[in-house]
Amino acid sequence: MTLHTGRHFLQIPGPTNIPDRVLRAMDMPALDHRGPEFAELGYAVMTGLQRIFRTKHPVIIFPSSGTGAWEAALVNTLSPGDKVLLAETGQFAVLWRGIAEKFKLDVEFMPTDWRRGADVAEIESRLAADRSHKIKAVMVIHNETSTGCVTHPLEVRKALNRTNHPALLMVDTISGLASMEYEHDAWGIDVAVGGSQKGMMLPPGLSFNALSDRALAISRANSSLRSYWDWHDMLEFNKLGTFPYTPAVNLLFALREAIAMLEEEGLENVFARHRRHGAATRAAAKTWGLDLVCLDPNAYSPSLTAVMVPDGHDADAFRKVVLENFDMSLGTGLGKLKGRAFRIGHIGHFNDLMLMGTLSGVEMGLDLGKIPHRGGGVMSAMEVLKGRNAMAMPKAAVA
Ligand code: PLP
Repeated sequence: MTLHTGRHFLQIPGPTNIPDRVLRAMDMPALDHRGPEFAELGYAVMTGLQRIFRTKHPVIIFPSSGTGAWEAALVNTLSPGDKVLLAETGQFAVLWRGIAEKFKLDVEFMPTDWRRGADVAEIESRLAADRSHKIKAVMVIHNETSTGCVTHPLEVRKALNRTNHPALLMVDTISGLASMEYEHDAWGIDVAVGGSQKGMMLPPGLSFNALSDRALAISRANSSLRSYWDWHDMLEFNKLGTFPYTPAVNLLFALREAIAMLEEEGLENVFARHRRHGAATRAAAKTWGLDLVCLDPNAYSPSLTAVMVPDGHDADAFRKVVLENFDMSLGTGLGKLKGRAFRIGHIGHFNDLMLMGTLSGVEMGLDLGKIPHRGGGVMSAMEVLKGRNAMAMPKAAVA
C-alpha cells in the first residue's frame, strides 16, 4: 500500500494538479443534460472556452481524452488519400501521424532530432514547392510535451501566407493552452486541438476543437465517414447549450470553475507565471550540469522541462528513486527518449514553493540515484524566483 503523508507531488506534464476549487465544483449531483439548468452551464463553458482560445468561432467540447480531438480534427476536414505535412517534433507528432495514417492520409513527415521545434523554413520551402496544392493541411504540435520544445504557430501561419498556400493550419495545443500564449483568430489557426488535463487544471476527460470559418466550410463539404466526432451534429445542439449525446456533466462544472480561476488570475499573468517557472527550472538544470532536451532557446517550453541524464544512466531508475523517497512523480522519457530523459512538469495549478519542492526532490534524487551532477541547482532556481537573475527570464513568445 502506498502511503501519502501530505500531498503527492504530481510533476508530470499532465494530468496536472487539480485545484481544490475545481474538485469542489465537480462534487455535484448529476443534472438533466437536456434541461434548462444544463443549458446555462453549456453556454457558460462554450463562451468561456472561446475566451481561452481567443476566438469568436465555436469551440467544440468532446467527452474524450485529447486523442479524440486529434481524430476529430482529421475526420472532419480530410479524406483518405489527402496529403498532409506534419513536423516530427517528438512522440506526440509520431502519435498524431499514426492516427492520420489509420485514416489513410498521405503523411509527409518532416523529421527533426526531437530537440527543437518544427523547421518553419523547411515547411515554407515544401509549401512553395507544392504548386498544385496537394498538401491539404499543415499539422504542428504547439508545445511538444515529449521534448519541451515549442513551435510558434504564428510563424507557420506566416509561411502559409508567404507561399499563398491554401492548406489548413492545424495546431495541437494540448499542453500549450492556458499555459502559454495562444491566439486562435489572430494567428489564423484553422483547427486547434486542446485537452482538459494540462494548463486547464482539470481531470482528463475533455478535449476541444477550436475552428475557423474555412475549416467549418471544408468540413461541411467533406463526406468522410464520421459520427461521434462530427462537428456539425455537435454545433446544432450547441446552439441550444446542449450536446448530441450525454456530456461529461461534472467535468463541465469543473471547466466552468477552472475558466473562472484562469480569468481571475488573468491569462497574461498565467503565461508569465509559467515562463518564470520554466526559467527557474532551466537555471537549476544548468547548475546541475544536465543538458536540456530542447537545444533552441527560442523554443524553450514554459510548461515543462525535459532533462537528459548522462550516458550510462537510466532516467527511469532515477524517477523511481524520486518516487520512492519523496513521493513525487516526474514524467518519463517518451518514445526514443525513454530512459534517456525525464520531464519536469511546471504547468497548471502551481506556484513558487511547489516548484522549489519539486526541484529539491529532483536534486536530492540526483544525489541518491548517483546521477553525476553539480549541487546548487535549487539555489539557482531560487535566484530566478527572487527576480535577481533577470537574464534567465525569457520574453513572451511570438505574438
Ligand atoms: N498531444 C499532446 C501534445 C499531448 O501532450 C498529449 C497527451 O499528453 C496528447 C496529444 C494526447 O492526449 P491524450 O493522452 O489526452 O489523449
